[in-house]
Amino acid sequence: MPQVKPHVVLLTYTKDPAQTIAMSAKLCYSDATIADLKKGVDESDVSKFLSRLVTMGHLSPFEHASFTFGIEGVSRSFLAQVTRHRIASFSVKSQRYVDANKSGEFNYVIPPAISALGEEAEQEYKEQMALMHSWYCKWQEKLGGACEKSNEDARFVLPNAAETKMTMTMNVRELMHFFTVRCCNRAQWEIREVAWRMLEEVLKVAPELFVTAGPSCVRGGCSEGRMTCAKPDEVRAKRKALADKTAENK
Ligand SMILES: Cc1cc2nc3c(=O)[nH]c(=O)nc-3n(C[C@H](O)[C@H](O)[C@H](O)COP(=O)(O)OP(=O)(O)OC[C@H]3O[C@@H](n4cnc5c(N)ncnc54)[C@H](O)[C@@H]3O)c2cc1C
Repeated sequence: MPQVKPHVVLLTYTKDPAQTIAMSAKLCYSDATIADLKKGVDESDVSKFLSRLVTMGHLSPFEHASFTFGIEGVSRSFLAQVTRHRIASFSVKSQRYVDANKSGEFNYVIPPAISALGEEAEQEYKEQMALMHSWYCKWQEKLGGACEKSNEDARFVLPNAAETKMTMTMNVRELMHFFTVRCCNRAQWEIREVAWRMLEEVLKVAPELFVTAGPSCVRGGCSEGRMTCAKPDEVRAKRKALADKTAENK
């Protein structure tokens, strides 16, 4: 079935991320040697130390730990948004090297709002995708058959809905920023869904680093002004449920 849904996996991350950040910060505030640092920071001090750094706004130590995600089942529209985050690193499935017609159809995302209109609307959308697929195949053929040279131009008739896959790496400082703007109800639904899934993944392995991560309302008031969703309690409850769920499954 060509219809896909977002799938997010935490592929790898810095070993002992909280320790790595605490060690880097400790160097700034003590006369510790590198050998002292290698012994690590007392586990019981780490969380307090990290939250002090956040309060002070001393955030550069949070750049020493990073997390790499595998993301699939997302649209090219998602790609356009997520790659605006300049402090992240990306490797994205190529539309030149990979034939979008390899399995006889191209994968695409259906916006939930379209599905919510009912079966008839969804069917109409699928027919539109099938039409674009036929255009893609036509251009591929006219341009010499499936190969890098034809794929690179045939793809121009594919929609924003076309599926893409990527690996993406962000350091903790960037992740905190990403969660603030993209877990917020103001963010578009697809990138918001991925952001919440990423948050769930990191909470499973490094909850102490992401205690306050999420949209601004989970840390206090809403920062969106007139554009507020006016549902801070709902968002806070969602964030709390996620923290509880990941703590339970630890
Ligand atoms: C609700 C919403 C609506 C949006 N609508 C639009 C839209 O209509 N049109 C549009 O074009 N974009 C839109 N965007 C994208 C937005 O403008 C940003 O490009 C995107 O959110 C990336 O954020 P950023 O630049 O803060 O973060 P990143 O690129 O992830 O950078 C993180 C932080 O690093 C610092 N930084 C990075 N690069 C620089 C730099 N060159 N100079 C100074 N500081 C830097 C900044 O403090 C920045 O916040 C929207 C985003 C959201 C969340």
